[in-house]
Amino acid sequence: MSFQDKSIQCSDCGATFTFNAEEQEFFQSRGYTNEPKRCPSCRQARKSERYGSGSYGSSTPRQMFPATCAECGKDTEVPFEPRGDKPVYCSDCYRKIRLNR
Ligand SMILES: [Zn+2]
Ligand SMILES: [Zn+2]
Repeated sequence: MSFQDKSIQCSDCGATFTFNAEEQEFFQSRGYTNEPKRCPSCRQARKSERYGSGSYGSSTPRQMFPATCAECGKDTEVPFEPRGDKPVYCSDCYRKIRLNR
């Protein structure tokens, strides 16, 4: 498969930008199947927003909070804000503990 320069309209600002053959090849080598939707400057702006809220829709996980597993001490993430009053477990330990009950 050969690549050709493509003009794409940015979904954010509406500017037309070039998705060139080199970038397409790079995208494919990374396993990306989607074309970029945004021009480089909008992409840059998005990135600096630290991956913001649900930009790519579908499978974006909800906000996760960093926590330390009370069982194995591993760093983990939980979908709620950990408070001091309850132990927090990583997914492995959580499963084990539930099975033991
Ligand atoms: Zn743009
Ligand atoms: Zn654990």
